[in-house]
Amino acid sequence: MPIVNVENPSPPTAKPRKPRFAATVRQVQRLTPHLLRVTFAPRRFDAARGELDVDFVLHGVGPASDWAGQAAPGQSLQIAGPGKGYAADPGTDWMLLAGDDTAIPAIATIIEALPTTVPVTALVEIVETADALPLAPARPGLDVRWLVRGSDPATAGRLLEAEVQEWVMPAGDGRIYVGCEADALRRIRRHLLQERGLLPERVVTRGYWKLGATDHPDRDFGE
Ligand SMILES: Cc1cc2nc3c(=O)[nH]c(=O)nc-3n(C[C@H](O)[C@H](O)[C@H](O)COP(=O)(O)OP(=O)(O)OC[C@H]3O[C@@H](n4cnc5c(N)ncnc54)[C@H](O)[C@@H]3O)c2cc1C
Repeated sequence: MPIVNVENPSPPTAKPRKPRFAATVRQVQRLTPHLLRVTFAPRRFDAARGELDVDFVLHGVGPASDWAGQAAPGQSLQIAGPGKGYAADPGTDWMLLAGDDTAIPAIATIIEALPTTVPVTALVEIVETADALPLAPARPGLDVRWLVRGSDPATAGRLLEAEVQEWVMPAGDGRIYVGCEADALRRIRRHLLQERGLLPERVVTRGYWKLGATDHPDRDFGE
């Protein structure tokens, strides 16, 4: 499954227009409830240069995936945000990040937000080996495990779930962020809270998409 990275596209054919209207996600939802909205984690934002990098997974058929598949310099897109993102805790003893290919931008930015003294384990499920993107390769204390599941979306989250179950939890007070398919997310959340007995305030889980469902709600925390 290719991941489109819109970082450093070829030079735009038209001069980018200045935004005429600054809106929050809530304002856009209120003003244009009929418009389709899709949530993506910004990979990088440079206000001074007016650049926003977003990585789209091309998963098959869906308005966002279809748009990204045909995207070309000079096209325009309406963007609102940022929404309330995950606040990485710099004082945590350790961090576990678990997600599929859609969560790679979130995982990468959380790693970058944490002090290098915090040990981080990243478990990332991808369709094929080529989908593995570099995640802070020189960072000390980073253990990245790529889990290649193959192209059948019906198996999404199975490898990730098994790897989380095998994961040996370090000593101390850590934090966990999980982002993946919604049903897999619920199984992983249940394992962490009920079988491992972790406190809910240490664990953030987000259903990024749901197998067989179009336009899955953005705010699915699996709670
Ligand atoms: C907080 C948050 C951050 C996100 N960040 C990113 C990001 O940075 N990059 C990114 O690519 N996605 C990200 N997502 C996930 C993205 O919003 C969903 O994948 C979205 O459903 C894609 O919309 P679509 O129009 O392509 O497909 P939809 O119309 O929603 O779905 C069409 C069909 O495709 C299937 N489908 C949807 N997504 C996938 C997938 N990934 N793999 C396989 N089948 C799928 C659905 O089950 C459905 O059958 C994020 C989601 C959240 C909540």
